[in-house]
Amino acid sequence: MSTKYVKIIEAQRVFFKTGGTRPIEKRIERLENLKRMINENIERIAIAYEKDLGRGLKVAEMERSITLSRIDHQINNLEEWSKPIELPLSPPLSTENGDSLYLVKESLGVVLNIAPWNGPVTSLASNMYAIAAGNTVVFKPSEMAPAIASLWEELAPKYFEQNFFAVITGGVEETTDLLKERFDHIFYTGSTAVAKIIMGAAAKNLTPVTLELGGKNPVFIDDSADISHAVTQLLGGKQMGAGQICVCPDYILVTPKAKKEIVDEFKKRISNLGELNKNEFFGKIVHERAFDRLDSLIKSSKGVIVASSGTPDRSSLHYPLTIVEVPVDDSLMQEELFGPIFPLHEVSSMEEALDIIHSKEKPLAAYAFTSHSNIAHRFVENTWSGGVTINDVMIHTSSPLVPFGGVGHSGIGRIMGKYGFDTFTHEKGVAMRKGTKLSL
Ligand code: NAD
Repeated sequence: MSTKYVKIIEAQRVFFKTGGTRPIEKRIERLENLKRMINENIERIAIAYEKDLGRGLKVAEMERSITLSRIDHQINNLEEWSKPIELPLSPPLSTENGDSLYLVKESLGVVLNIAPWNGPVTSLASNMYAIAAGNTVVFKPSEMAPAIASLWEELAPKYFEQNFFAVITGGVEETTDLLKERFDHIFYTGSTAVAKIIMGAAAKNLTPVTLELGGKNPVFIDDSADISHAVTQLLGGKQMGAGQICVCPDYILVTPKAKKEIVDEFKKRISNLGELNKNEFFGKIVHERAFDRLDSLIKSSKGVIVASSGTPDRSSLHYPLTIVEVPVDDSLMQEELFGPIFPLHEVSSMEEALDIIHSKEKPLAAYAFTSHSNIAHRFVENTWSGGVTINDVMIHTSSPLVPFGGVGHSGIGRIMGKYGFDTFTHEKGVAMRKGTKLSL
């Protein structure tokens, strides 16, 4: 049975079949339009950002500068990435017989992108990969950031034709309906629980999925680590979006000597942080349900609060940055926190830390602070995760040359740079005989 979205999707499919998405100059023009949609509306984006998430112009501008350079990377390389590649021959193909073998880059068709609320500019810009690869897009921003979602809905027709790029707003009901329709690829960013629903719906049409999910991202700190540096980076990482970023460090495992130092350093730093509720990089918790979830996790914790930047305030949705020393089986050590709570647990050795990390699902990111390369090497070799940073957090996601994505429960597939382009492209093997050739 078709839904109210069928016309939009059919119009996009018809447009795709005309070949209108594929010329390189058209792809570049549309990526430039995506950039203009962000650039020309940055003040309005900041206002919506403030309304939805308590973050403003500085954060919107920071997100803009990161995402525009990623879009430029697509613009500068997509011609090269789109070209057929001529491959060496193996029997029964041979040059003497006039044979050729190619890898041809084929666009997929109509892509559905279901986005989260926590990085609105990043979510809009995540359409760059499908566009660069010559597809049409149905974009479903999150209902959890309603001001941003309405802004995208209002602006999109000024920058794109609807038969190329359509914004659908709404929540579970609308997404459920959308998922009844047939797409050529579904790109979903959000929680692991909802990802299972998305994948189930996609299975009915055998639609391939890319799932960018979260996870409980561990931090291991050994006695050799530069504690002052570690605390600076960890507080920076956890303050960004009040911990509501998928690659935020989630919990800390620390060896005994380092633990004493780190606890002292956290106490000192947090008392000097000032009013985090006025810090626009910190912002607020997205909604009451998320706030209550954090509060009940803290209340059911058997841990001891080591340092806190204030008291939770439900009316402003401000949750303080809170460091809690916890036993290993604590409520704060179970699911992804996605908030400004930092559980810390003492371990006797790296082996014990690895056992704890391995007892959980594979996270999106893993972090370690140490001054020993051999410890860092062992950490990289003996953890399974989407990516790793040593002696910092999140920074492995900064290069377009590195794929971004999870493994196991933290995700399926990848984006960023050429990896993102390839995700929305089918690589078609083409053999040609009797002297026929592709024009390269
Ligand atoms: P969410 O899964 O609740 O929502 C994301 C999207 O799914 C929204 O557009 C929403 O409308 C839709 N949705 C929600 N319930 C649905 C249902 N029952 N049926 C169909 N669609 C439904 O996730 P969230 O709360 O927005 O984000 C938090 C999670 O996302 C965290 O786990 C975080 O780590 C992860 N995340 C991952 C990345 C990444 O790039 N890997 C980025 C941001 C967030």
